[in-house]
Amino acid sequence: MSRPVIAIVGRPNVGKSTLFNRLVGERAAITSDVAGTTRDRVYYETTLGTYDCILVDTAGMEFEKKKDLEADVQAQAKLAVEEAHLILFVMDGTQPLTKSDLDCAMFLRKSKKPILLVAHKCDNKESLVYGPEMHTLGLGDTIPVSSIHNMGIPELEAAIEKVFKKMKWKKDRKRSDKDETIQIAIVGKPNVGKSSLVNSILGEDRVLVSPMPGTTVDSIDTSVEFLKQKYVLIDTAGMRRRGKVRQGIEKYSVLRSLQAISRSDVTCLVLDGSDDIANQDLHVSAYILEAAKGLIIVVNKRDLFEDVDEEQKRFLRMMQYRMNFIPWAPVIFVSALKRKNIFQVLESAKHIQEERSRRIPDEKLKTFLETTIHSHPPTRSGKKIIFSRVFQSRTRPPIFSFFCNLPDLLHFSYRRFLENELRRKFGFHGTGIKLEFWRD
Ligand code: GDP
Repeated sequence: MSRPVIAIVGRPNVGKSTLFNRLVGERAAITSDVAGTTRDRVYYETTLGTYDCILVDTAGMEFEKKKDLEADVQAQAKLAVEEAHLILFVMDGTQPLTKSDLDCAMFLRKSKKPILLVAHKCDNKESLVYGPEMHTLGLGDTIPVSSIHNMGIPELEAAIEKVFKKMKWKKDRKRSDKDETIQIAIVGKPNVGKSSLVNSILGEDRVLVSPMPGTTVDSIDTSVEFLKQKYVLIDTAGMRRRGKVRQGIEKYSVLRSLQAISRSDVTCLVLDGSDDIANQDLHVSAYILEAAKGLIIVVNKRDLFEDVDEEQKRFLRMMQYRMNFIPWAPVIFVSALKRKNIFQVLESAKHIQEERSRRIPDEKLKTFLETTIHSHPPTRSGKKIIFSRVFQSRTRPPIFSFFCNLPDLLHFSYRRFLENELRRKFGFHGTGIKLEFWRD
């Protein structure tokens, strides 16, 4: 079962991004800083109420005539609404409704999606001046919220929970760590060769293919076995292959990709070696990083390279520049057409799953604490931050829990230093890991 998608929609300046950050909470602030990039977070996997869901900030949605440059962003935002299961329609509770609010309401009404009205910036009980006006939109009651003062958030979460219950949304089945099948999501822009890659894997003599029930509306699952290892390929291009979407008109549905990534252990992000890396690819990668999944960058169409060595170097340089926030992902140059390096993808996924399943013994982490941390202790504004304990609290993904006296003061560069050192000492090549900081 996929996760429900919640889109945060509204005109500019109503505080969509602030609400987004408030809903994803502290966790997000930490991991996104680790990425060390200036990119805006747009998609995030989070838990609201008791539901694991995907939250989308549609900051680009402006409901006015736009230049071409922004049209693309708006198209993506509209696509997000199309694919969302619930909309949070954000308005400024302290201002009269504007024409943009009304246009937005009109658009949302047409979408026929469940909508919750958020009257934002209501910092106290008196500030919801325009609640009655919002009520006239006929989209239901408004929920007054202040992200900055953290007010109304529990009420909003309760309302979200109520909608999903009413929709009878089934929760994700938690997979056990003993499940030996490796789930691989195949994602990427249209025409990079996702279908061709899947076909070339399925067409190999050494790969045993068995049809699978439980295919979702977003993707097609196929069970395969190679060298005694079982895999499930979660194929986001498969719907088109089955003729449900006509060839050539497929949109790069980032949300469909995210749904597939959520269910995966390892994601293959397929890129076209003769093309550039798109911003959407970066958004998808950032999501993979935040969800701490395994990642393989599959650069396809290697057969089009005239000078293979030179072109591969050029592509790797571009990746270092554009995707420097994920230095740990293996890059495999393949040709789906000529069936070159196809098995490497499965072998790499297996290796990454082994890395994701590793548990570092407590005593090794104690040594890590005594050497790495205590010899480079962090300080902030003259205050000493003292670490007392670290242990690995989970595998798949590996999560490390650090305990210290002042976790809120930790700078993201120190968190990044800790992640780099953990990787240097213990590996985890090919997979995201999570670091959590607790007050002791
Ligand atoms: P998808 O939209 O990502 O599923 O891409 P497709 O698998 O449909 O491939 C898009 C186009 O790229 C098709 O015309 C394929 O024949 C071509 N293509 C796919 N893989 C390769 C490859 O390895 N080399 C070359 N030269 N072309 C490829």
